[in-house]
Amino acid sequence: MATATEQATIATPEVRQTKILINGEWRDAVSGKTFQTINPATEELIAEVAEGDEADIDLAVKAARKAFESGPWATMDARDRGRLIHRLADLIEENFDELSALETLDNGKPIADARAADLPLVIDCLRYYAGWADKIQGDTIPIRGNFLCYTRREPLGVCGQIIPWNFPMLMTAWKWGPALAAGCTIVMKPAEQTPLTCLRMGELAMEAGIPPGVINIVPGYGPTAGASLVKHPDVDKIAFTGEHLTAQRIMADAAMTLKRLTFELGGKSPNVVFADADIDAAVAGAEFGLFFNQGQCCCAGSRVFVEESIKEQFVDRIVERAAARKVGNPFDTSTMQGPQVDQDQFDKIMSYIEKGKSGGAACVTGGNRVGDKGYFIEPTIFDNVTDDMDIATNEIFGPVMSILSFKDLDEIIERSNSTFYGLAAAVWTRDIGKAHQYANAVKAGTVWVNCYDVFDAGAPFGGFKMSGIGRELGAAALNNYTELKTVTVSLD
Ligand code: ADP
Repeated sequence: MATATEQATIATPEVRQTKILINGEWRDAVSGKTFQTINPATEELIAEVAEGDEADIDLAVKAARKAFESGPWATMDARDRGRLIHRLADLIEENFDELSALETLDNGKPIADARAADLPLVIDCLRYYAGWADKIQGDTIPIRGNFLCYTRREPLGVCGQIIPWNFPMLMTAWKWGPALAAGCTIVMKPAEQTPLTCLRMGELAMEAGIPPGVINIVPGYGPTAGASLVKHPDVDKIAFTGEHLTAQRIMADAAMTLKRLTFELGGKSPNVVFADADIDAAVAGAEFGLFFNQGQCCCAGSRVFVEESIKEQFVDRIVERAAARKVGNPFDTSTMQGPQVDQDQFDKIMSYIEKGKSGGAACVTGGNRVGDKGYFIEPTIFDNVTDDMDIATNEIFGPVMSILSFKDLDEIIERSNSTFYGLAAAVWTRDIGKAHQYANAVKAGTVWVNCYDVFDAGAPFGGFKMSGIGRELGAAALNNYTELKTVTVSLD
């Protein structure tokens, strides 16, 4: 494998699977329709993919229900479920090169990132939850009277899982891991922009021996396939990752069937740099925290607050680093930034850049398209941003950093929290007391101190306020996939 220093261009992978997975079988859409998945680096067609809608969702839900209620999954020992999840992780590892290249092809992310971040995190996540399968247990409770009272954590049932396009494989693993460990069955709808790696993971799941019907995958569009899954009366739960506006739609659609809902949504995360921080580390952390994955991270540190006394120095250094980022062919192992995922995202980001320029912020680097083919945008930094500007309040989901200045801790806590989002925050300081005061006061599901984007399968992740409901990863995610049953036995 080439390292980032020895430049190489990785070959485009073969696309092996483009159909719908229902009950262990690969099939065309009932309607016969397909949709196109496009290579964001070239704007060329990669493949036509079966376009599922209500009819396919219904078949998938029936298969998932049957697999949940009867058959091998329902009666399997928890430890054997764990073994199958381990086997899936092993197969993903065995197909590491193909899967990382397929992720790069469909999503546009640099191959170096797919290899260093996405794939290892996917494998780790599945192994982590494989280990949980036989450790999901209840309590015995000393209630009044002559009774034995205990609780059972039972699998929730048929789970609809709807994921976005920014980390297609990783979002699949975050959803499948806890659901499978708990003994649930799954109907997954991958994002229409990036269905390919999820479908390939489905093939590997079948090869691993996960029984038919346990994992069903229906690619298609949100308002058709996605909405049908949300409204289906025989689906017990929806786990969704995406925009808060879509989550509001889903919540309304799920109301009639009172589905359990967990949401992992957007953010406008503050990344706060105090004057006493290790500036080298803070600059590197700000670069990584925003520009990683083309800025397409729900937890991107998109509001960089820098203490007034060091702001000029900080801006000079971050601009130098941003301008030096290598943007281009994502299959080149030395590329640091690939294209945005599609034309819509590209247009949205460019319109925010225009708003930043016309709104009075100083565009100190970037601000333009790169080349004339593919959805590439220069790493862009705005200085002198104020809290009320569009670029400081809205999630841009692209390589656009806003730098704001601040004076003291109380002020920065208040400004950090003055958003309806609450996904993540970071603080850079050598003063441990200040770091903890900030961590306690900021309304965010994850706080990084002197680091950014440190993810681990064991560490819960999710949002305060309109950034989400519930937590993924860690033991916390298992609660999303179990019902708690209380059993009381008379001992008389
Ligand atoms: P993004 O802007 O990042 O694409 P979305 O929230 O629009 O985020 O999409 C995330 C996922 O939600 C995708 O799989 C998309 O197809 C799906 N989706 C979009 N609209 C709906 C809907 N009304 N019901 C269910 N799923 C939807």
